[in-house]
Amino acid sequence: MDRLVCYDCGETAAGGAARCACGEPLWFDTDGGAFSWPDASGGDNDDADDGVRLGRDSLWRYESVLPASVPTGFAAAAGGTPLFRAPSIEPPDGPGIHLKVEGTNPTGSFKDRGTAVGIGRLDGPVGTVSHGNMALSVAAHAAAAGREAVILVAEDTPDSRLAMIAQHDPHLFRVRGEYGKLYEDALERDLGVAFLNSDAPLRVAGQKTVAYEICEAFAPDAPDAILLPVSSGGQASGVWKALRELDAAGLLPSVPRIYLAQAARCDPIARAYRRGDSRVEAVEGEPTAAVSINNADPPSGNRALAAARATDGGVVSVSEESMLAETDRLAADAGVSVEPSCAVATAAVRDLAASGEFGPEDDVAVILTGSGYKYGPSEVDASSVREVDRTDVPDAVREVVP
Ligand SMILES: *Cc1c(COP(=O)(O)O)cnc(C)c1O
Ligand SMILES: [Zn+2]
Repeated sequence: MDRLVCYDCGETAAGGAARCACGEPLWFDTDGGAFSWPDASGGDNDDADDGVRLGRDSLWRYESVLPASVPTGFAAAAGGTPLFRAPSIEPPDGPGIHLKVEGTNPTGSFKDRGTAVGIGRLDGPVGTVSHGNMALSVAAHAAAAGREAVILVAEDTPDSRLAMIAQHDPHLFRVRGEYGKLYEDALERDLGVAFLNSDAPLRVAGQKTVAYEICEAFAPDAPDAILLPVSSGGQASGVWKALRELDAAGLLPSVPRIYLAQAARCDPIARAYRRGDSRVEAVEGEPTAAVSINNADPPSGNRALAAARATDGGVVSVSEESMLAETDRLAADAGVSVEPSCAVATAAVRDLAASGEFGPEDDVAVILTGSGYKYGPSEVDASSVREVDRTDVPDAVREVVP
């Protein structure tokens, strides 16, 4: 599994390249045709020889379609996240909403899938251009694997985020100047550091496993749609790749439609979709609470757009107001704490149900990409807490629970 291929023009390239000569991103040329679902008992626990014993399944269940082998240690724990139906947040006459909770990955986001596969495949120092979930994931996985990690963060990254990353002791650089340009710089320059950026082929390979897990949970049926937030387009690419492979393997009765959600304040892919274009143009994004998906010039934007189009899905922009309301709803009504960047996805389900695109006969799997316990609220709304003397506790409780 060494060859890379371009989704757009079909050209192949040797592993190590990141972009096709045509400018589009590459992914691994995996032959999924021979794949079948592993036995119920399959996966890591059988591999006692590898020293891998997990109390749950992980993405390594799909080792046969991954460009890396089952690792030992921390990387063995990525993936295998819960999927459950959440009737308490389903809109009336709307679709069944099934939540895929990626916040339960080892560092609290789906980025661990790509990092685990990337670090498993590569030797030597690794790096990333990120100040969020990806930086934390690379720093933690590098620490566990005894690797040097180079993390390049933007100048304005708040200390609270830096501290979270710094605890894993990477080489952390706060970068002055145009941070957005750094992504391409890091890909091009040979620093002896393998950069696992958001749409690196190894990362996309790891991240495709989220869709393998969703589809296996529905097998022999399939969800009608898979909906996820999109920023660089790396995860959307992985989901599309998985569906293509599973379709080639004859494991999907019908291919789920891929829907992508963006924050309206920074929505280059949604704009291209509405224009009917196949090419995403950079936008002037505005600040949004959806910090993890605030990408005005997505490197895999065209591929993400192609994923939505090829599967008859779509791309939706979500207002700031409805994203924040949805973040609250997920926590208060479904028990799941997420970042606003994830809540755009269930907010988009609501919009698509209102416009009639989803109906009660549909089952939609929504990828909640990261935990809210990292970037969630840091202040308490005074009205949500009562001050009470010890002796008054029984009366105070009786007042709220009559
Ligand atoms: C990185 C990230 C995304 C966006 O993923 P892309 O692969 O860049 O499109 C969405 N949600 C969260 C929580 C993330 O960390
Ligand atoms: Zn190409």
